[in-house]
Amino acid sequence: MFDDLTDLYQQVILDHSRSPRNFHPLHPVDRQAEGTNPLCGDQITLHLQMDGDRIKDVGFQGSGCAISKASASIMTEVLKGRTPAEVRRLFDRVHEMVTTGRQDGEDLGKLAVFTGVHKFPARVKCAMLPWHAAVAALEGNTKPVTTE
Ligand code: ZN
Repeated sequence: MFDDLTDLYQQVILDHSRSPRNFHPLHPVDRQAEGTNPLCGDQITLHLQMDGDRIKDVGFQGSGCAISKASASIMTEVLKGRTPAEVRRLFDRVHEMVTTGRQDGEDLGKLAVFTGVHKFPARVKCAMLPWHAAVAALEGNTKPVTTE
Protein backbone atom coordinates (compact mmCIF):
# COMPACT_ATOMS: atom_id res chain seq x y z
CA MET A 1 0.00 0.00 0.00
CA PHE A 2 2.73 2.43 0.91
CA ASP A 3 4.52 1.64 -2.34
CA ASP A 4 1.35 2.36 -4.28
CA LEU A 5 0.94 5.65 -2.51
CA THR A 6 4.54 6.55 -3.27
CA ASP A 7 4.00 5.72 -6.94
CA LEU A 8 0.88 7.89 -7.02
CA TYR A 9 2.81 10.79 -5.50
CA GLN A 10 5.60 10.31 -8.03
CA GLN A 11 3.09 10.41 -10.88
CA VAL A 12 1.58 13.67 -9.60
CA ILE A 13 5.05 15.20 -9.28
CA LEU A 14 6.04 14.07 -12.78
CA ASP A 15 2.78 15.37 -14.23
CA HIS A 16 3.29 18.82 -12.67
CA SER A 17 6.95 18.97 -13.69
CA ARG A 18 6.13 18.10 -17.30
CA SER A 19 3.04 20.31 -17.53
CA PRO A 20 3.48 23.00 -14.90
CA ARG A 21 0.34 24.95 -14.00
CA ASN A 22 0.36 28.76 -14.03
CA PHE A 23 3.67 28.67 -15.92
CA HIS A 24 3.53 32.19 -17.36
CA PRO A 25 4.23 35.78 -16.34
CA LEU A 26 1.41 37.99 -15.03
CA HIS A 27 0.51 41.48 -16.27
CA PRO A 28 0.32 43.58 -14.26
CA VAL A 29 2.46 42.28 -11.39
CA ASP A 30 1.75 43.46 -7.84
CA ARG A 31 4.49 41.45 -6.09
CA GLN A 32 7.38 39.45 -7.49
CA ALA A 33 10.49 37.62 -6.39
CA GLU A 34 13.35 35.72 -7.88
CA GLY A 35 14.95 32.73 -6.24
CA THR A 36 17.79 30.32 -6.90
CA ASN A 37 18.92 27.04 -5.45
CA PRO A 38 22.63 26.94 -6.37
CA LEU A 39 23.03 23.36 -5.10
CA CYS A 40 20.78 22.01 -7.85
CA GLY A 41 20.66 24.89 -10.35
CA ASP A 42 16.95 25.58 -9.82
CA GLN A 43 15.76 29.06 -10.68
CA ILE A 44 12.32 30.66 -10.30
CA THR A 45 10.64 33.99 -10.97
CA LEU A 46 7.34 34.29 -9.12
CA HIS A 47 4.61 36.82 -9.92
CA LEU A 48 1.63 37.65 -7.71
CA GLN A 49 -1.49 39.71 -8.25
CA MET A 50 -3.16 40.88 -5.05
CA ASP A 51 -6.77 41.67 -4.23
CA GLY A 52 -6.43 43.65 -1.01
CA ASP A 53 -4.69 41.35 1.44
CA ARG A 54 -5.36 38.19 -0.56
CA ILE A 55 -3.49 36.62 -3.45
CA LYS A 56 -5.67 36.83 -6.54
CA ASP A 57 -3.44 35.16 -9.13
CA VAL A 58 -0.04 33.50 -9.28
CA GLY A 59 2.32 32.82 -12.15
CA PHE A 60 5.86 31.54 -12.33
CA GLN A 61 8.69 31.00 -14.76
CA GLY A 62 12.01 29.32 -14.39
CA SER A 63 13.95 26.14 -14.85
CA GLY A 64 15.14 23.35 -12.66
CA CYS A 65 14.64 19.78 -11.57
CA ALA A 66 11.32 17.93 -11.46
CA ILE A 67 10.89 18.51 -7.71
CA SER A 68 11.37 22.28 -7.87
CA LYS A 69 9.11 22.65 -10.89
CA ALA A 70 6.36 20.45 -9.46
CA SER A 71 6.63 22.24 -6.11
CA ALA A 72 6.21 25.62 -7.83
CA SER A 73 3.33 24.35 -9.96
CA ILE A 74 1.35 22.89 -7.05
CA MET A 75 2.18 25.89 -4.84
CA THR A 76 0.73 28.32 -7.39
CA GLU A 77 -2.56 26.43 -7.25
CA VAL A 78 -2.59 26.40 -3.45
CA LEU A 79 -1.69 30.09 -2.97
CA LYS A 80 -4.70 31.61 -4.73
CA GLY A 81 -7.01 33.27 -2.20
CA ARG A 82 -4.46 33.10 0.65
CA THR A 83 -3.32 35.93 2.88
CA PRO A 84 0.39 36.56 3.64
CA ALA A 85 -0.10 35.14 7.16
CA GLU A 86 -1.61 31.96 5.72
CA VAL A 87 1.28 31.62 3.27
CA ARG A 88 3.85 31.93 6.07
CA ARG A 89 2.02 29.25 8.06
CA LEU A 90 1.93 26.98 5.02
CA PHE A 91 5.67 27.59 4.49
CA ASP A 92 6.36 26.30 8.02
CA ARG A 93 4.06 23.29 7.58
CA VAL A 94 5.55 22.33 4.21
CA HIS A 95 9.08 22.76 5.58
CA GLU A 96 8.22 20.49 8.50
CA MET A 97 6.75 17.92 6.11
CA VAL A 98 9.69 17.81 3.67
CA THR A 99 12.30 17.69 6.43
CA THR A 100 10.61 15.19 8.80
CA GLY A 101 7.89 13.47 6.74
CA ARG A 102 5.33 14.54 9.37
CA GLN A 103 2.11 16.39 8.67
CA ASP A 104 0.54 18.04 11.68
CA GLY A 105 -2.72 19.94 11.80
CA GLU A 106 -4.95 20.66 8.84
CA ASP A 107 -4.79 18.51 5.73
CA LEU A 108 -2.14 19.80 3.34
CA GLY A 109 -4.08 18.45 0.36
CA LYS A 110 -2.07 18.24 -2.85
CA LEU A 111 1.07 19.44 -1.06
CA ALA A 112 1.22 16.04 0.64
CA VAL A 113 2.77 14.58 -2.53
CA PHE A 114 6.08 16.05 -1.29
CA THR A 115 6.07 14.05 1.96
CA GLY A 116 8.62 11.61 0.51
CA VAL A 117 11.16 14.39 -0.04
CA HIS A 118 12.34 13.97 3.57
CA LYS A 119 14.03 10.74 2.47
CA PHE A 120 16.17 12.78 0.05
CA PRO A 121 17.68 15.65 2.10
CA ALA A 122 19.42 17.14 -0.96
CA ARG A 123 15.97 17.72 -2.48
CA VAL A 124 14.53 19.69 0.44
CA LYS A 125 15.89 22.95 -0.97
CA CYS A 126 14.41 22.15 -4.39
CA ALA A 127 10.97 21.71 -2.84
CA MET A 128 11.29 24.83 -0.64
CA LEU A 129 12.66 27.23 -3.29
CA PRO A 130 9.23 28.34 -4.58
CA TRP A 131 8.06 28.87 -0.99
CA HIS A 132 11.08 31.07 -0.22
CA ALA A 133 10.19 33.09 -3.32
CA ALA A 134 6.54 33.39 -2.25
CA VAL A 135 7.42 34.70 1.22
CA ALA A 136 9.99 37.11 -0.27
CA ALA A 137 7.42 38.43 -2.78
CA LEU A 138 4.84 39.01 -0.04
CA GLU A 139 7.40 40.76 2.16
CA GLY A 140 8.36 43.03 -0.74
CA ASN A 141 11.90 41.70 -0.71
CA THR A 142 13.37 42.81 -4.05
CA LYS A 143 16.73 41.09 -3.59
CA PRO A 144 16.89 37.64 -5.22
CA VAL A 145 16.46 34.93 -2.58
CA THR A 146 18.68 31.89 -2.37
CA THR A 147 18.30 28.66 -0.49
CA GLU A 148 21.97 28.93 0.60
ZN1 ZN B 1 16.35 20.91 -7.74
